[in-house]
Amino acid sequence: MDDIDHKKLGRELDLFTFSDVVGKGLPLWTPKGAAIRREIERWVVDEEIKDGYQHVYTPDIASLKLYEKSGHYPYYKDSMYAPIQIEDEQFMLRPMSCPHHFELYLSRPHSWRELPLRIAELAKLYRFEKSGELMGLERVRSFCLADAHIICRPDQAESEIDRVLNLIERMAGVLGLNSGADYWYRLSLGDRQDSKKYFKDDAAWDKAEGLLRSVLQNRESKFVEAANEAAFYGPKIDIQMKNANGKEDTAFTVQYDFVMPGRFALTYINEKGENEQAIVIHRSSIGAIERLVAFLIEKYGGAFPTWLAPVQTLILPISDKHLEYAQSVADQLREQHIRVELNAKNEPLNARIRDAELEKVPYILVVGDKEAESAAVAVRRRHVKETQVQSTTTFISRLREEIATRSNN
Ligand SMILES: [Zn+2]
Repeated sequence: MDDIDHKKLGRELDLFTFSDVVGKGLPLWTPKGAAIRREIERWVVDEEIKDGYQHVYTPDIASLKLYEKSGHYPYYKDSMYAPIQIEDEQFMLRPMSCPHHFELYLSRPHSWRELPLRIAELAKLYRFEKSGELMGLERVRSFCLADAHIICRPDQAESEIDRVLNLIERMAGVLGLNSGADYWYRLSLGDRQDSKKYFKDDAAWDKAEGLLRSVLQNRESKFVEAANEAAFYGPKIDIQMKNANGKEDTAFTVQYDFVMPGRFALTYINEKGENEQAIVIHRSSIGAIERLVAFLIEKYGGAFPTWLAPVQTLILPISDKHLEYAQSVADQLREQHIRVELNAKNEPLNARIRDAELEKVPYILVVGDKEAESAAVAVRRRHVKETQVQSTTTFISRLREEIATRSNN
């Protein structure tokens, strides 16, 4: 299993690193790793906005009072970092963004017509993990969750959850992952007898669990039910996956919450002009970026599809004579937002091709006299032996198309 370890590949491909002085479990993204992350983040934000989400920014820390209001403190105290004293106030590094989004919702009154409000954020979160449990990008102390809170009327909850699952399946599909095969759903239920672990409201639990079950049944999704796995504030649908070592794990969740709306007084003005309590759906679309990247490094063995590849094209001039032309090709590619590198080291061409292959670059472009004379490039596609000469403009437009469609081959 050593060959598909994301920690080893991440080091070899120079994607991320850790520093003892920065601290354990706090990843440093290199320019190459950052390129992958940036592509994923742009994709998530664009897809979610297209799906009716409103993306926001809220701070990484908050007053302790906010987490006392939400009940996370002291309830989740063990997975949070100790408070930070600033002047007379105490602050926390946030372990979740829900209360920030609720306060944003409360900044003005809302009519029933505005709902559902889908508030999304690429939220940087901090959770306490014991040093012995840290593992590469998979288990970290700071991470970025593709998070959202859908605030809706009770009659909208079912269709909103269905819509969330559509989004998850669409996005997983882009990554080449299929529902039922690469990931599957788990309906996580509460326990009416355990009022310590679960908020006491039997009728609300019955209703919420029935609603999630009916969403899954109506979609004809394959799912398993798990007793005693719900959140404190309601049942959830977990997206379950196997990691590279074959171990089952919850990648992220969709949660139905009937408790926080009461605690934060998340209300809207209904058709009759009265205040009515909303429902909250907590959801992620792809989970934590760190975890996803760890997973993708292992899934692709470092040979990323072109849209995600840190270096999409590598240009190799045959000799110094061709350096000027090679640079002009690099400029044309860069102008079209294509990630390009040029290797003009004083080494034989074959050695430089071998290096590029080890780096798993999708396209190697060799340029010599013939190419320079005809404004062309000799293209070597990753894993393909033959070289194909194409005009530079044709190559660029094909590549742009491949990147724009996030093609998986
Ligand atoms: Zn939340």
